[in-house]
Amino acid sequence: MHTLDEADRQFALHPFTNLSAHQKQGPLIIDRGEGVYVWDDQGNRLIEGMSGLWCAALGFSEQRLVDAAAKQFAALPYSHMFSHHSTAPAIELSKRLVQMAPEGIGKCFLVNSGSEAVDTAIKMAWYYNNALGRPGKKTIIARQRAYHGVTVAAGSLTGLPYVQDGFDLPAIPVIHVETPHAYRFAEPGESDQAYSTRLADSLERQIIEAGADTIAAFIAEPVMGAGGVLIPPDGYFEKVQAVLKRHDILFIADEVICGFGRTGNAWGCDTYGIKPDIMTSAKQLSSAYLPIGAVLVTDALYDAFSQYTDKLGVFGTGNTYGGHPVSAAVALETLRIYEDDDIFGQVRSRAPHFSERIQALQNHPLVGNTRSVGLIGAVELVADKDSKTSFPAADKIAVQAMLAARKHGLIVRAAPGDALAFCPPLIINDEQIDDMFDAVTDALNDVL
Ligand code: PLP
Repeated sequence: MHTLDEADRQFALHPFTNLSAHQKQGPLIIDRGEGVYVWDDQGNRLIEGMSGLWCAALGFSEQRLVDAAAKQFAALPYSHMFSHHSTAPAIELSKRLVQMAPEGIGKCFLVNSGSEAVDTAIKMAWYYNNALGRPGKKTIIARQRAYHGVTVAAGSLTGLPYVQDGFDLPAIPVIHVETPHAYRFAEPGESDQAYSTRLADSLERQIIEAGADTIAAFIAEPVMGAGGVLIPPDGYFEKVQAVLKRHDILFIADEVICGFGRTGNAWGCDTYGIKPDIMTSAKQLSSAYLPIGAVLVTDALYDAFSQYTDKLGVFGTGNTYGGHPVSAAVALETLRIYEDDDIFGQVRSRAPHFSERIQALQNHPLVGNTRSVGLIGAVELVADKDSKTSFPAADKIAVQAMLAARKHGLIVRAAPGDALAFCPPLIINDEQIDDMFDAVTDALNDVL
């Protein structure tokens, strides 16, 4: 007989894990959850300061979601959306998503994950340009440090070496442009607006150099999450959108983390004034209770798809589980809870306290930069605050802090650039926010 720990080491191949280190240190086995807390198999209670992987917005014990799943499982555990098939939960969910989306969005395509949503969005941008008779317009512009997933196309857009190394990515035509990160890359004394202008000018130069007739779309997370919680400088998206418009390039907003209240509004697009042509979403769409994602597109794109399928015969993409009725029913109930409990309003009212506690960490000797919007934030750890000198990579300072936090009852996440990221369930209260940042302070003191 194996213990769970032994069986994990022997049989499980873990994503985003150093495999030989895993053999030595073994798994963190999570057993159960309640509210914003999870318990490991040793009985230790932890605040889930990352909502799992930026997704469990309603925490770990929302009975309405359990009931919605059970009801749909009993009524119809599976159907699909191919060849004109549909189900009530998939229809209702599509309607609700389109109704809550930014102006211009008219159709919803259901998938199973963020990566699948991003892959589908890329295919849609290509399909659109083929429909318009401009087959050369295919390159996607993404940003360094962006995270868009791991499938062959989405992983090609992700701008993080550890996602691409060893896998022969990028494998589709991509241009990676600069990351908007004022703390690191703005010139001394440069205002947000001036920095944003410089980034937009640089983007435009790269578009002109490559030829706008070769570029299909620009993809961006409103707030970069897995790349270290990078918040755009004022004016950034306004200026970028003006450039894209001039060159007839689509804007794909990757809302996989920002969607559903994370930044204090329904969408990151709402917070930053983005008018997307395509939106990808997943994660908080079902509060992580079941896998589901959605791609939302404008009526203009849909009309082009529709005319093109008259020529080709069929819109030839989709997945067995896209629009799964149980996932759709759970997502629909999640959206109802967001509305009934005014969850996005709650985020706005908790955000000042969350931000205050993060900003207070600026006084810690290890912290060079603090940043947050809504209920997502990060601190960036540095060896020297004045010169912003980083720690040697081998120190893995953010990983050390992440592991230390666990000893103080908190799950947070080490992110690139020695960032420690925070993304708690949206139902967190002020006292729990205090507990969270007290634990962060203790963890930083441990690694000092
Ligand atoms: N896009 C963004 C912005 C993400 O943060 C992620 C995952 O973290 C993805 C896409 C990929 O989603 P998934 O892991 O569900 O494939």
